[in-house]
Amino acid sequence: LLRRRRALPSAPMPWRRRAGSDGTAPRWDVLVIGGGHAGTEAAAAAARSGVRTLLVTHKADTIGQMSCNPSFGGIGKGHLMREVDALDGLCARICDQSGVHYKVLNRRKGPAVWGLRAQIDRKLYKENMQKEILNTPLLTVHEASVEDLLLMEPEPDRPGKCQVSGVILGDGSRVHAGSVILTTGTFLRGMVFIGLKMHPAGRLGDQPSIGLAQTLEKLGFAVGRLKTGTPPRLAKDSIDFSVLQRHTADNPPVPFSFLSEAVWIKPEDQLSCYQTLTNAKVEQIIHDNLHLNNHVRETTRGPRYCPSLESKVLRFPNRIHQLWLEPEGLDSNIIYPQGMSMTLPPELQEQVIACIPGLEKAKMVQPGYGVQYDFLDPRQLSASLESRLVQRLFFAGQINGTTGYEEAAAQGVIAGINAGLRVSGKPPFIISRTEGYIGVLIDDLTTLGTNEPYRMFTSRVEFRMSLRPDNADSRLTLRGFEEAGCVSQQRYAQTSQMKVTLEEAIAVLKSLQFAATKWARLIPEASISTSRSSLASALDILQYPEVTMEHLARAIPEPLRKFAEWRELAERLKIEAVYEWHVASQQQEIEEVRRDEALQLPEDLDYFAIDASLSQEVREKLDSNRPQTIGAVSRIPGITPAAIVNLLTFVKTNQ
Ligand code: FAD
Repeated sequence: LLRRRRALPSAPMPWRRRAGSDGTAPRWDVLVIGGGHAGTEAAAAAARSGVRTLLVTHKADTIGQMSCNPSFGGIGKGHLMREVDALDGLCARICDQSGVHYKVLNRRKGPAVWGLRAQIDRKLYKENMQKEILNTPLLTVHEASVEDLLLMEPEPDRPGKCQVSGVILGDGSRVHAGSVILTTGTFLRGMVFIGLKMHPAGRLGDQPSIGLAQTLEKLGFAVGRLKTGTPPRLAKDSIDFSVLQRHTADNPPVPFSFLSEAVWIKPEDQLSCYQTLTNAKVEQIIHDNLHLNNHVRETTRGPRYCPSLESKVLRFPNRIHQLWLEPEGLDSNIIYPQGMSMTLPPELQEQVIACIPGLEKAKMVQPGYGVQYDFLDPRQLSASLESRLVQRLFFAGQINGTTGYEEAAAQGVIAGINAGLRVSGKPPFIISRTEGYIGVLIDDLTTLGTNEPYRMFTSRVEFRMSLRPDNADSRLTLRGFEEAGCVSQQRYAQTSQMKVTLEEAIAVLKSLQFAATKWARLIPEASISTSRSSLASALDILQYPEVTMEHLARAIPEPLRKFAEWRELAERLKIEAVYEWHVASQQQEIEEVRRDEALQLPEDLDYFAIDASLSQEVREKLDSNRPQTIGAVSRIPGITPAAIVNLLTFVKTNQ
């Protein structure tokens, strides 16, 4: 680790270009600033695509550090991880090697919105990530602080103020590069808050990034300020779990990566999570001590979907709030109380903890704290995540206004690929809204911007019936291999085989057509309706909840047996069958919105009374903007196309 970390070898340039403004040829193709979740994915993706990459980060020991929750995935976030994996990214594979509790969320709904999630062993994740990064060919890690950017004249045929040509490190040395990616998370002018105390820091114990923040401002970038927070950590052996509700993991656990047949841990060795609840005493302490809580009083926007305990109590008074006690690792004595993020002075945090069932004697090993930081208005980026203001300068992760490891990782992969393509003179690799959650995330950020920490949800995605976790590889892996060169030959071959066989199997299933009465005889276990006289295909029959490929293969061994024997293929065929109709009808809905752009909305429409699936965020935006037509709704920043479809359906059915 040390050998690779210290040396900054003069890499021979695999490409030729004009000299930098100071007459020095650039040394690296891609230079990534920051070794967090965006930076590691960006650096690895650039290196995988064949360009010489340097990752510069404050401390090599914090590469892959999970700054907050010890978990990955969830609803919407699990989709992003599958897509990162489809592009041969790291986080999904590393979670399969580091998880201690795997659970698929939203199981009661269809597989299109299942959320793969896992509690992760914090230490193991970091170790596995560091191993991966240090063993990636063409990737070198250097431990340093980047203080400034090196700039030169722009390329004549491209608009932009100037072009980045490298960075200046804390010791004054210059490192030249063809493209630079900024992934500095919460570190730009980061300020940590606990009670009335505050001090400059990127996160507790880490220095902030001041020089870079000043550079961005000087260059004319529009920046805003956001805040987030993290809960206190508790000693496991001081908690009374016997009075709490236990939540066990899935058996068998579902892996995140398309390459993993199983996760590393035995199903029976997985750890449990526990649930507890707040009460009136907690609320009282928070109310009585607001004057001692600077972070909460600040008007800076925090994460709407991961609010602090104080915000929940203030926004929803007299309510009980759920808290989840999550293990931090197999050998760790630390418990992460999810939902208890707070910034009260430490002694008051201890008082809050002591009021909560099961935690009466709990020992606080680290207080919760808040952090406020600069973020860049992401509307200054193109869909490749390259800045419009400074050529060859890319941005990814929390610096773009997002929150969460998965959102950071997804942007990291795209920035890494595109920074590499840029120096190689190739066209950018863009994922559209119709191709992936990553496309929706980047399109939302770069076209609408954000004024609060942005996190991914299935509701932001209009094509969610077709953008499912099960088919992320079919959607992205082949493109990743052919256009971006970031996918291994092994993965490409595996995905190609699956795709071809899937298409063949669907064609065969569609071609096997019998009357319903015959199907009912062939598969007596299923309650197939015989009222319809028309023919039904085997794909139609596979839509019945109780019918599997095994049933079909038993009824018609030739040619179906070979498809049913491949377990993964059989599962995917079942999902394809279930969604075939939904995908078609969703496409129709989208067309409908386009046709109904001029539809007038009632002036007195009470958006808060609409029971259609509109999020609170969308209702608030609609209420404050009061658009006159459906077309006007689509121009309000932050209103998702999926919300527009839901609103249109509501208005039409209530006209
Ligand atoms: P980070 O993971 O923060 O990585 C940034 C990296 O850049 C660090 O390694 C840093 O050392 C390095 N760096 C910064 N400046 C420089 C420089 N000048 N030179 C060299 N290296 C530099 N997410 C949620 O989903 N829910 C939450 O509740 C939540 N709470 C959070 C609470 C706190 C206190 C913090 C800090 C984060 C929280 N997050 C939460 C966010 C989550 O941790 C981030 O979204 C995610 O880690 C962002 O990844 P990133 O790669 O953009 O940045």
